[in-house]
Amino acid sequence: MKVMSLRKITSLTQNPNPLSFDDITEPKTSEGEILLRVTRCGVCHTELDEIEGRTPPPQLPVVLGHQVVGIIEEGKNEGQRVGVAWIASACGHCEHCLAGNENLCSEFKATGRDVDGGYAEYMKVRAEFVHPIPDAFTDSEAAPLLCAGAIGYRSLRLSNIQDRQNLGLMGFGGSNHLVLKLAKHKFPNAKIFVFSRNPKEREFALSLGAAWAGAIDQSPLEGLDAVIDTTPVWGPVSEALKVLSPGGRLVINAIRKEETDKEVLFKLDYPSQLWMEKEIKSVANVTRQDVREFLGLAAEANIKPEFQEYKLKDANQALLEMKQGKIHGAKVLRVAE
Ligand SMILES: [Zn+2]
Ligand SMILES: [Zn+2]
Repeated sequence: MKVMSLRKITSLTQNPNPLSFDDITEPKTSEGEILLRVTRCGVCHTELDEIEGRTPPPQLPVVLGHQVVGIIEEGKNEGQRVGVAWIASACGHCEHCLAGNENLCSEFKATGRDVDGGYAEYMKVRAEFVHPIPDAFTDSEAAPLLCAGAIGYRSLRLSNIQDRQNLGLMGFGGSNHLVLKLAKHKFPNAKIFVFSRNPKEREFALSLGAAWAGAIDQSPLEGLDAVIDTTPVWGPVSEALKVLSPGGRLVINAIRKEETDKEVLFKLDYPSQLWMEKEIKSVANVTRQDVREFLGLAAEANIKPEFQEYKLKDANQALLEMKQGKIHGAKVLRVAE
């Protein structure tokens, strides 16, 4: 079968083709696993973190991709259309798993990092870690919902935002454009403020109903009760803390931050950026419940991602465009029909 595999950790700036288009044997399933015939796989910013070594796969080569849609070819529920998300497995019996926080499990395994993922014609997966896809979505629409959407949903929950409050979104790529749609559905009277370095993304945000859109360091002239940051750098963290209201919460939805502008953290001004009980919280992984609740909500609210399709063998191009910030909605690999 055809796959795009990562053979070594590298920098996209120096190596624009980090993945190789390989032909390998199909995976063999064991007890409790299913074989999935992949039709679509979303491209996520986390793949850049894996390729560049900020969250390196424990073994190479590995097949990336954790927003997978396909048809069950072998195993339980053959013929069913399902999705696979970032959570490939968790232990099921530790205190975090038992408390419903399997995303925090020390044995958490990630799809497309700790086990082979969906940049491939076939993949194997634990049967209880697949999610039925609601009929409302095409395969391409469903793929970005599985990570960008599900983790966006978790971020929105962790932000504690309420109706009639002000929500800020730092960065407006695959995840936050879905958060905006979801927030407008759940909190119709909340005002949404979008911060982006890219004027096209700001226009896109306004077209989706943002109350305001500006540059990362611009002030919206209103305090924000919560901000969700999806950027890969530190400047937006500093800027978000400036515009948070007293008691406000900054939620960082990023698996890793790049080191490039980390020095801004040494310049944090305690009185204006941290005092008044401002909080910072990260979002780690997703649970199966996040994925399933979000898919249900998205179907109910008719939340569909904007997306661009690429061929499987053009995954490098999609990744490079993501690195360069050429983002309009989500990127999806078309593997098969
Ligand atoms: Zn992801
Ligand atoms: Zn566990």
